[in-house]
Parts: sequence; structure tokens; C-alpha cells
Amino acid sequence: MNDAGVHEVAIVGAGFGGLGMAIRLKQEGIEDFVVLERGDDVGGTWWANSYPGCQCDIPSNLYSFSFARHDWDRAYPMRDQILEYLRDCARRFGVLPHTRLRCELLGATWLADEQRWELETSDGSLSARVLVAAPGLLSEPWTPSLPGLDHFNGNAFHTARWDHGDDLTGKRAALIGSGATAVQVVPNIQPRLAKLHLFQRTPPWVVPHFDHPVSPRLRELYRRAPALQRLSRGLIYAARETFVPGLTRDQRGLQLQKALARAHLRRHVPDPELRRRLTPDYEIFCKRIILSNEWYPAIQAPNVDLVSSGVREVREHSIVDNDGIEREIDTLIFATGFRPAELPIAERIRGRDGRSLAEVWGGSPQAYLGTTVCGFPNLFLFYGPNLNLGHSSIVYMLESQTNYSLDALRTMRELGAAEFEVHAEAQDAYNEEIQERLARTVWNNGGCGSWYFDRNGRNSIQWPGFTFEYRRRTRRFDAPAYGLRPAATLRAANGASRSYPSAHAR
Ligand code: NAP
Repeated sequence: MNDAGVHEVAIVGAGFGGLGMAIRLKQEGIEDFVVLERGDDVGGTWWANSYPGCQCDIPSNLYSFSFARHDWDRAYPMRDQILEYLRDCARRFGVLPHTRLRCELLGATWLADEQRWELETSDGSLSARVLVAAPGLLSEPWTPSLPGLDHFNGNAFHTARWDHGDDLTGKRAALIGSGATAVQVVPNIQPRLAKLHLFQRTPPWVVPHFDHPVSPRLRELYRRAPALQRLSRGLIYAARETFVPGLTRDQRGLQLQKALARAHLRRHVPDPELRRRLTPDYEIFCKRIILSNEWYPAIQAPNVDLVSSGVREVREHSIVDNDGIEREIDTLIFATGFRPAELPIAERIRGRDGRSLAEVWGGSPQAYLGTTVCGFPNLFLFYGPNLNLGHSSIVYMLESQTNYSLDALRTMRELGAAEFEVHAEAQDAYNEEIQERLARTVWNNGGCGSWYFDRNGRNSIQWPGFTFEYRRRTRRFDAPAYGLRPAATLRAANGASRSYPSAHAR
């Protein structure tokens, strides 16, 4: 903290994005930073989501920091293992002393004259020159407002706020949703329920899951020769990038996966009528593809009732479908996902003209390189607009953002700048390009609705290219795209605002 009580950097969120940035700041020799985390622990989405069966659908060797090897015991990591990994990273790299848990950001205001962010938190106020907002994309559970829900007398909760006090044994439950979360939850709760009414509005494409324990011999080999684990990481990474042409240009490249999914369905579901109800009518990968060997067997169990007609209303002790059939239930579980284009943090961050991100965006988040926003100086958004992937690890994208942000801080130091703000033209041109490219993708053309689309019908979520393209574009802070301003005191001393050369040589 400087003499005026201003931190160099404040980071909001202690998930992969916030922790990764904090670790790299320390490695860069920047110690004056705080990490604000509203949860009781670090871990972000992996702390918040504790539902039964919670697991990542990206292999462990890729879904981890490039700089922090881990002794994974499964090919695909379970939630508890990821959480332990993140806790371990926070400890190992010395981030915990910088971290304030149970500290929620309530408001952040850019004070232009003082060139700093003033933050209001649930634990008091503080000030920082640079704000890194890393709240996670899938952090705010979304629940549909079903008619009659207020009168429900049983227990109702969202999967992202799992009620561990309700052990469900012998109960009658309804679960709404059939996305990535539902597919993991259902096989894990179905055996102990008396009855499960599964409300599936749209069937997912499901392919076999090749998860398996990592053998003790391979783990030992990775310990002795970490280069081999890095090689495995590289091979997984490369294999996943081969999906990109199919996702972003020519969907014929996805037909093999579709054949695999159809064969998986045929193998597990003998009844043709049920198969028909479980066959998607949209292109594979339009919604996130699902890996599961347990979903089809679980939904054919005798205590499961698959309801495809939608929810009409909820009553005191029951749920009624659109055909008017009423089902008695004790527990109602929402596996209804998130609304990532409407993050509450966007209402709390106010930029140069006093307007919030939410007001500026009007429902359609936009940023330059998914990271910086015109009108919001000295702000880095992590996992910002159009950075989500359909095929690979978000940790790779977050590390690219970290590279970029650190280079921005270095550039500012070298140039003696106190403030950066992306030019509107650079931001607009970037977003036009991204939207043009998205128009050719499976997410926009695959004939499905998804959480990739915001309330204005714009895809504000997906990255439409190879991840290495994003890595290349964020390798260096591109100063010409920005207005860089010196410290206000310097400006006053010079009697005018100083302008910097549009490019800098290093
Ligand atoms: P989601 O993919 O958005 O799925 C929500 C489900 O709720 C959909 O089946 C949706 O049906 C249904 N739904 C929503 N409102 C409804 C309503 N009013 N009536 C009936 N059904 C309704 O959410 P999610 O499953 O939580 O997954 C979100 C994302 O989290 C995933 O795409 C993935 O990126 C991530 N995730 C990853 C993993 C993993 O790594 N394995 C696990 C879980 C989640 P429609 O399809 O008809 O809209």
C-alpha cells in the first residue's frame, strides 16, 4: 500500500483466474495486492459447486496451471481434487496472506482525478490503482420463476448451492434441467431417491466418457519425469484444438462425434420411443457436449420418470407438467444453469462517466480481447466477454489474460503511465471481428438455444477460434490500442496532459 493507502492491485475472486493472477504478480515481484473472495475459501466455482458427482470435463493434465504440476489420480478431475489443487497453489505460492475471505465486492468506482479504484466491500472499503475482476463466468445460479414456486412447501435449491442437509434418501424429488450439471447429478442421487421426476426440456448430445484412475506407475513416472506429464498435457491440448475448424467453420468436422453419440445412445437405450425422446434435433456441440456413461442407465432406472412436456406450475407439495399431470414431491432441484451475460458484478463496477458496466453493456457484454473496456480505466476483466470455449481448458485462456495484464503493468511502469484505457475504435473493431466470425460457428448456426446468447440474442460468450490464436494476440500489451496517461500530479506539473507515442519499443 502506498502512503495514501492505495494498493497497487485489487483482485476480485479467488478461483483459477484470480489466484493465477495473484501468483504471477508475486512471481513478478509485485507484493502490494489484495485478493477479495466472497466465499469461505479459495476455489471459485469449484468451491461453490459441491453437488454430488461434480467433475470437470477437461482432462486433469490440461485443466491446471502450466506452472503448477499436480499428482492427479484421475484422468478427469473431481471437484474435491480441483479444490484441493487450488488450495495447495494458494498456499504453495504464498497468496493466502493477501487473501480476504468472506469479503464481497459491493461497489467499485473509478475516481478519475485520483486515478484509482475506490472499492466498497462487505468488509470495509479500500483503494487500488488497478482492478482485476475475476468473478468467474458461471458463478451466479439462475432459477426460472415458475408459477407457484413461492407456495412450494418442500425443499428447493439450485445445484450450485447444493443443500447437503437434505440427504434425499427415500424422498420424491423433481430435477429440472438436462445440461452438464444435471447429467452429473442424476446418476449420483437416483439410487437413493424413492422417485425422481426428471424434467428434460432439450435432450443433450452425450458421448462416452473415457475417465479412469491414473495408475500408480504412471503417477510415479510423472513425479520422476515431469517433462512426460507436460508432454501428455501438450498432446491433449493439440488433440482438442483439432475440434476448432468443425466448431467454427465447417460442421462436417463434427460428424464423427455425432456418430459416436448416436452409437452411444443406441447401445444404452433399446426402447425406440425413449431413444426418440433422447435424440437432439440440433447440431452436436451447439450446446456443450456431455461426457457420460451413467446418464442413460440412470434415467432408465425404474424410479426415474422422464418428463419432456415442461413445467406448468409448482404447488405446495407437487409439480405439474404441461400436460396437466401432477406429481407429489418433497424436494425440487434446479439444474438450470447460469446467466453469465448478466453478472451482478457488472452492476457494481462504475467507470469514468459514473455508469456501471451493466449500463454500458445493456445486456451484451463487450470488451477488447475479452479483457479491457473503454470507459473503465485500469480494469482487467478475467473470463470476460467471448472467451469461453467449447473444446478446451479455460485455464489456458486465463493464463493468456494474465500474460497480457502483467505486460500492461510492465509497460505502464516503463512509460511512467498511471492509467490505461482502451480506445473505443479498437474495442469496436475487435468485437465486430469476433461477431463476424461467430456467425459461422456451430453455436450460432447449430439450431439450439444456449447460455451463450444474451438477452439481446447476441453471442457474448464464445471465443470463435483456436486458443493459440488468443495466446498469440495477448502475448504483449498492445499499447497503440490504448490511451495511456501519466500520473495526475505529473500532468498538473506539466500544465497539460502528456501524450505517449503510440507504440513502444522493447
Ligand atoms: P445449462 O447447460 O445451462 O443447462 C440448464 C438446463 O436447465 C438445460 O437443460 C435447460 O433446458 C434447463 N432449463 C432451464 N430453464 C428451464 C425451464 N424453465 N424449464 C425446463 N428446463 C429448463 O446449465 P448447467 O448444466 O449448469 O451447465 C452450465 C455450464 O457449466 C456448462 O455448459 C459447462 O460449461 C459448465 N459445467 C461444466 C461441467 C463439467 O466440466 N463437466 C459440469 C457442469 C457444468 P434447455 O436446454 O431447453 O434450455
